[in-house]
Formats: sequence, C-alpha cells, structure tokens
Amino acid sequence: MQKIVLVAGARPNFVKIAPLWHALSGYDNIDVKIVHTGQHFDEAMSRFFFDDLKLPVPHYNLNINGGSHAEQTGKIMEHFDKVLDHEMPHDVIVTGDVNSTVACALVAVKRGIRTSHVEAGLRSFDRSMPEEINRIVTDSVSDLLFVSEPSGLTNLKHEGIDGEKIHFIGNVMIDSLISINSRIDHSRILENIGVQEHKFGLVTLHRPSNVDSTSRLKELISWLQETANNIPVVFPVHPRTGKRLEKMFAENTAIQNNHSNLKMISPLRYIDFQKLLKSAQFVITDSGGVQEETTWRGVPCITLRNNTERPVTLESGTNYLAGNDLKLAGSIINDCIAGRAKQGRIPELWDGKAASRIAEIIVR
Ligand code: UDP
Repeated sequence: MQKIVLVAGARPNFVKIAPLWHALSGYDNIDVKIVHTGQHFDEAMSRFFFDDLKLPVPHYNLNINGGSHAEQTGKIMEHFDKVLDHEMPHDVIVTGDVNSTVACALVAVKRGIRTSHVEAGLRSFDRSMPEEINRIVTDSVSDLLFVSEPSGLTNLKHEGIDGEKIHFIGNVMIDSLISINSRIDHSRILENIGVQEHKFGLVTLHRPSNVDSTSRLKELISWLQETANNIPVVFPVHPRTGKRLEKMFAENTAIQNNHSNLKMISPLRYIDFQKLLKSAQFVITDSGGVQEETTWRGVPCITLRNNTERPVTLESGTNYLAGNDLKLAGSIINDCIAGRAKQGRIPELWDGKAASRIAEIIVR
C-alpha cells in the first residue's frame, strides 16, 4: 500500500483536494488520508464544501485557526508532525498558497517524505502578499511541482528549479468545477436572492489590499452601491471582510448598506456560488480561484488587484486587471453590460483531468 496524505486548510484548498481525493481513491493499492488543518472551520467555509464535493469527513482535524501568520504556521507544523509520526506516509500533497500549504510542505520534506505541490509556479511578483511568500517557499522545497498554466513553467525555470520535478498537468480547481457542473442547475439561489440570469453582477473581496484599510473599504462599498443603481450586485461576504465591514459600519454610522440592489449575503456553498458565477453578467473579485473559474465559464471578470499570479486568465481568458482604479472598473462593467466584453478561450489542459494526471505520476 502506498500511503498518501492530502492537506487542506482553507476554502480554496477543499476545492483543489476534492478531485485528487477522487482520483487517488480509485487505485486499490493507495491509502489516502485527508488532514484538515482547521484554518477555515465554520460550516459555510468548510463542511458544506466537503458535502458538495463528496469528500469524506477529514481523517484528522488539527483545529488550528486565528493567530498571527507565524503562530498559525508554527502550530500547524507542530501538529502535522505528530500526524506524520502516526501515519508514516510515502507522499504528502499540498495545494495552493495558504499557511497550511507552506507549513505542511516544510514538515514533510524535512522528514524525507516525498512532497508534491499542486498549483506550483504561480507568481504575482508582489512579496507584500503573504500568499506569494508561501508559494516561493513551498515550490523551493517540494519534490514534485504540478503546474496549472504556462507561466508556472517559466517562473520555475527562472528560479533554477530542476525540470525533472516539474509537470504541466492542468488545473485541479477546474476539475472540481466540471465535476459539479451537471448539479448546479438544481440550485435555487437566483430565486432565493431575487436576481435574474445575466442581469446582475457578482462580487467577492477578501484580500488585505482591498479590505484591511477602512478608507479603501469605504470607497469600495460606495462604488458598489453606485454600481447597484444600474444593475443588482450580489456580494457573498468572506468572513475576513465581514469582520472589517462590521467594524466600519459600527464606527461610521454615515456609511451603511441600505441599498436594496447591493445584496450583501453570507459566503455561499460551492454549488450555489457556481450557479451565480455562471449566471452573472460580470464578476468583480480579488480571489485567485474566481479569476480562473470565470475564464473557464467565459464570464467577464474584473480583478481589483495590481497584479495576478494567473496571467493566462488575462492573456487568453476573460479577466481584466483594474488595480485600484474604480473608474476603469466602472467602464469595463459598462462594456460588459453593452455586450462588448472580451471573448476568452479555455486555457490548455483545463479539461477536468488534471487530478488523474497527477495521480498517474504519483503512483508511477
Ligand atoms: N467560493 C464559494 N463561495 C463563495 C465564494 C467563493 O464557493 O461565497 C469558491 C469559489 O468558487 C472558488 C473558491 O471558493 O472555488 C475560491 O476561494 P477564495 O476566493 O476564498 O480563495 P482564493 O482562490 O482567493 O485563494
């Protein structure tokens, strides 16, 4: 038996490990264990994803959340080390760019366990983003690097990483999207929220550059309210953003969300969110995964960041980078409403088979 430990901690990780779990569980000679570090722990950010993506209850839950980056990373390392004492796996697989990714990769590789990083090589070239540090460190220590888009190959080559470790296999996040696609039309989310197909915009924002400063957050909320004068806007609020919004609304009674067309709601479960994303006229985001999902679905995406680690979504997809410039974002939205958005195409190997390619390589 080849024992494999799959690590997940935060919402995007659940979407990425699901196809790996399903692909690896299909082998008789493989024993897969899921370790949930606990970074995201409430139902809306965790359990519902396990249900929607048909994942089993995690074999281990380390229950580590909150604290500074150092505290969180350190605690995850300490607790994950104990899991490895017990399991003694042949392989550890980490995905994405969160603290659990770098923490578990460091622990595994120092114990001499073959360590794979899925979604390797992505770079925003912005070291003020904690995710960028996590990506660089994880890639530099991992034994197998699974790359989702051509920029990943170029970046790893520039960093001098041995080409034998690198495999261009496609995008596991798109595997999940394809796997649930036939189920999303059962979702009643449009009716529940009160919006009509292709007649609303969808928003997700949680990156520090947009939500940590009150002045930026205030500017964003007023701009979204203005946008909602023309077209309904649905905003499932990430808990990180929710905390900051609560504080802002409590401190500044002059700014409140009393706009009936700006629908601020709780974070959505995966199937409902995919239904909204597919049905939106445009999406405004700072999420990494959402930039990829909109490109796959051909829905225009306006990214409120100065950079993206996923340049294929700009070059061949439907993504636009608007940075901090809300005037520019507004004019792109007008183009989308007028039917003048750019037409993208689906990037190479985003075909629903990335996880089976990874499984073949790991089992080989
Ligand atoms: N997502 C979701 N519900 C929401 C918002 C996002 O299911 O209310 C999904 C989205 O489809 C994508 C993933 O969560 O698969 C992205 O997670 P997030 O934006 O938190 O992380 P990032 O991709 O920025 O690391």
